[in-house]
Amino acid sequence: MSETMHEALHRIFGFQQFRPNQEEIVSAILDKRDAFAVMPTGGGKSLCYQLPAHLMEGLCVVISPLISLMKDQVDAAKANGLDAEFLNSTLAPKDRARVYQALENYQLDLLYVSPERFAMPDFIATLKQAKVSFFAIDEAHCISEWGHDFRPDYLSLANIVTHFPKAGIAAFTATATHKVSDDIITKLGLRDPYLTRASFDRPNLFYQVLPKDNLDIQLLEFLHEHPNESGIIYRTTRKSVEATADFLKEQGVKALAYHAGLTPVQRKKNQEQFNRDQVQVVVATIAFGMGIDKSNVRFVLHGDLPKNMEGYYQETGRAGRDGEPARCQLYFSRSDIVRIRYFIEQTEDPNERKIAEQQLFQMVQFAEANVCRRKAVLGYFGESYEKENCSTCDICVGDVERVDATVPAQKIMSAIQRSGQKFGAVHIADIVAGAKTARIRQFGHDQLKTYGAGKDQDKKYWRRIIDALLAQECLVQNADQYSALELTPKGKQVLFGKRTFETIRQKEGKAKASMSTTGDYSPKLFEQLRAERKRLAQEEGVPPFVIFSDRTLREMALYFPDTEEEMSNISGVGAAKLAKYGDTFMTIIEMFKLMHPGEVEKRALLRIPTTAKKTRKTKISQTARETLKMAEQGFSVEAIAAVRDISEGTVSQHIQALLESGQGAKLDIDQLMEPETRILCEELFNRLSGASMRSIIEASGNRVTMADLRVVRAFAQKT
Ligand code: ADP
Ligand code: ZN
Repeated sequence: MSETMHEALHRIFGFQQFRPNQEEIVSAILDKRDAFAVMPTGGGKSLCYQLPAHLMEGLCVVISPLISLMKDQVDAAKANGLDAEFLNSTLAPKDRARVYQALENYQLDLLYVSPERFAMPDFIATLKQAKVSFFAIDEAHCISEWGHDFRPDYLSLANIVTHFPKAGIAAFTATATHKVSDDIITKLGLRDPYLTRASFDRPNLFYQVLPKDNLDIQLLEFLHEHPNESGIIYRTTRKSVEATADFLKEQGVKALAYHAGLTPVQRKKNQEQFNRDQVQVVVATIAFGMGIDKSNVRFVLHGDLPKNMEGYYQETGRAGRDGEPARCQLYFSRSDIVRIRYFIEQTEDPNERKIAEQQLFQMVQFAEANVCRRKAVLGYFGESYEKENCSTCDICVGDVERVDATVPAQKIMSAIQRSGQKFGAVHIADIVAGAKTARIRQFGHDQLKTYGAGKDQDKKYWRRIIDALLAQECLVQNADQYSALELTPKGKQVLFGKRTFETIRQKEGKAKASMSTTGDYSPKLFEQLRAERKRLAQEEGVPPFVIFSDRTLREMALYFPDTEEEMSNISGVGAAKLAKYGDTFMTIIEMFKLMHPGEVEKRALLRIPTTAKKTRKTKISQTARETLKMAEQGFSVEAIAAVRDISEGTVSQHIQALLESGQGAKLDIDQLMEPETRILCEELFNRLSGASMRSIIEASGNRVTMADLRVVRAFAQKT
């Protein structure tokens, strides 16, 4: 093994450090040990097998259930310089032959295939010839009937161990339950696997719950505040999906609908447009799920209460896979509870009904209780969150305030107690609010001492208090007694004044919670870089995030890297991407710097943090040293570029770096370029001081190039 795993991490992927658990998994695979990893979405699973695939002798076969995603995954791997291909039914015969040829010649690091293909006997025979080092199984929960996404095709993977006894198996999933995990290990027949279960905390997600009043308007407001970010809006029914999507479209938002009622072709098209940043939002039912590999989803909004916490976690988990801040907002109204409960009541199986009731209760508790949302989410997965304040949820940042509601709680509980703990929420709220219903007269509840004790508030208010009492476990609903409300010991303590009771309320003017997702980066430059990324993506027919992630662009818009050294220190810029895109992005940054000197000054003291990389700005790269050698022998920029087969732009950057570091002290500008051109550049700089490079070039009628200007300026700054 010539390259260590840290070197490869930096060179290929352009990352400085492993994410939690990645290093251990990679090591296990390199040691030829089976591995099973449960990692949340965005945890960085693909690197766990791509890195060893590159370092190890032989082929890594990746089994992935989603044909629609394979091409993107392979494109992403290729963009990093890995030798990857896929085989599935969408491939043209010509391409298929090419892939088979590459397999025969042992040229591949990675081969992505669907489980159906793996089940074909011919294909297994081919693989047996292909020197497989290990199998990586993505979305491994698809093999389990207990999971939420069972696929019978996956069962054929149980044969890997018999057909390929010498190959390792690494299985990955983001599904959290222990039952499914155990099932996966058994079904695949993993042999003493290295087991790891990452924390389900997603620290870059901001969780918030907002009261829902006029949802479409609330969504529109949010989108107006986040015009350049893409995201998903979840709604429960096809009808509401269509309605919200139509409304947003009318309002000029680039939105698309996605639900199971669309044809597969249409769904694929919509998904692709979203992946490629051609639309801003997808309004979807939960049918829009596993197929989303887009790493720059900046928000997930829930227009309706999800049915359970698992679903909520998976859906919100699609935000912020690139590790950058992302928002998860749930718009909550009581009427959602009524709606879900209605559906639960239609369920025949009493056991299922009970489970659904319980899940709904957990959801309501999440929305209504005054504990940190993160704590609540993790608690659901049996994980305890140690920090007092997570600082990334509405409760912890204080967007909501706690209001003492002991007296109203006592009124409710007193009404429950006095009516014999036999009635449901609607009736109890009616008693306290002093409603004149037939039921109240029938039971003589207008004679109770608490009847009308809360006339000053409406019924809605009292229903909220009841929900809060349920969420904080002061009350329970008796499932066998038509959901009659009963007091718990904790509730009794509140009723008898032994403890207080608080509810939460949105702070005035705070509804639009405040988290700067910006840091100190320049949004203007970020937009320019994004536009360039989109253009390149279209040109190459890949989704934009395959080129660079949002995080990478944001770092560029923060540190303004304009030399190869600096660029290579940006997270996500590995050798292959530096060579392919470095120049293009550096040119944009360079122009931006010239046009916005104020922004440059603001960041004068900023340094790109480098932990892995040893080269500093003053250190000159090997390639720049070669340029220096030639320049010292009297070659011009043009000649150096031609001989070395690199662009003049790159050579001019080398010259700049050499002059800045003092190593180019002996260079003579009139050897590097035509004196005429130099004089023209100097004149242009004088005449158009402060103008952008692009406008200088235009003003010269394209007689000078960016490289010319850069060299002249570097020499001017030297003296
Ligand atoms: P998963 O499959 O677990 O959902 P991905 O493999 O798609 O996650 O990775 C999510 C994002 O995290 C990608 O944009 C990837 O480039 C990035 N990433 C992975 N590992 C690292 C790392 N060590 N440092 C920085 N970013 C990383
Ligand atoms: Zn919190």
